[in-house]
Amino acid sequence: MDEPRPLRVGVFSTKPYDVAALSRANSSTGHELLFHTSMLDPVTAQLASEADVVCAFVHDDLGTRTIERLALAGIGLIALRSAGFNNVDLRAAREHDISVVRVPRYSPHAVAEHTMGLVLSLNRQIHRAYARVRENNFSIEGLLGFDLFGKTVGVVGTGEIGTSFARICTGMGMRVLASDPDPHDTCVDMGVSYVPLGELLEQSNIVSLHCPLTPDTHHLINATQLSAMQDGVMLINTSRGGLIDTRAAIDSLKTGKIGYLGLDVYEEEEGLFFEDLSSSVIEDDVFSRLLTFPNVLITGHQAFFTHEALEEIAATTIESISAYAAGAPLEHAV
Ligand code: NAD
Repeated sequence: MDEPRPLRVGVFSTKPYDVAALSRANSSTGHELLFHTSMLDPVTAQLASEADVVCAFVHDDLGTRTIERLALAGIGLIALRSAGFNNVDLRAAREHDISVVRVPRYSPHAVAEHTMGLVLSLNRQIHRAYARVRENNFSIEGLLGFDLFGKTVGVVGTGEIGTSFARICTGMGMRVLASDPDPHDTCVDMGVSYVPLGELLEQSNIVSLHCPLTPDTHHLINATQLSAMQDGVMLINTSRGGLIDTRAAIDSLKTGKIGYLGLDVYEEEEGLFFEDLSSSVIEDDVFSRLLTFPNVLITGHQAFFTHEALEEIAATTIESISAYAAGAPLEHAV
């Protein structure tokens, strides 16, 4: 293996916390990090002309046109600072001989714990109680919850995050059902029962999505699947917005079929999430409708956002870039 040579890395969608974590991880490696606050797309791809590698995040557009431009700029590696890679045209990347790496397990606990945070907040209405108490309103009317102990939770996708979430649920005395084309022994060993998706939806009081967004899983939860669920079901999505048909979810909220909806992701979140739009008019009427329901709790794609996860994302990203620089095998290639 050759000694790694320092590379120039065009880092897109950079926030101050990315600069801090990546700079720390890079301190002993010496790659030149060129930070850009812009999102990567076919236009901003020209900023990559000074780089050897681009480093991108979940909203960066790595579709065919961007990849073509990155290829023209001589980019050989796309290093994703995320586990999901649904925003990358992998076929175009292969055609242009551009490798793609991701960070597969930076902290499954971060996302799993946030998922449970949504479950607990929705169930016990902590988000509403917080606002009431700030107004000196100490009435508990309307805040009635239910015991999680003994309830059934359905985990769709039991990879790193789904398994971590299943562990939390079993620890709380819940019955855990799972659906995954590739069942995991760790889950079976902790007492999780694998069942077909239809059965999971029928039996679960809470359904939590942890599978990747692919053409096959787009709108995995649609009107038909929603109608199979229990009345008043709690639906949680901390994976990718496109897994749920949002309009169908709104219809189910109106009828009471969905009793609680917790989202950390939204299918049209690009341009919304990660930005401070508090002085702007939100033009997305579907999103605005979601915000009107008292039993909907939305966070802006922050499930990954812990100190541990940021450090791990940065460390793995820099390691992958160094491996590429040295011509070594890319452990986290997609
Ligand atoms: P993973 O690759 O470890 O696990 C994904 C699992 O989903 C695998 O076991 C796979 O077999 C299963 N799967 C695939 N298709 C399925 C289907 N149709 N039905 C059921 N299961 C299916 O991934 P992970 O690290 O656990 O992450 C899961 C997802 O979480 C990622 O794809 C990403 O989109 C999302 N994510 C969100 C955040 C956040 O901040 N909100 C952070 C990290 C990851």
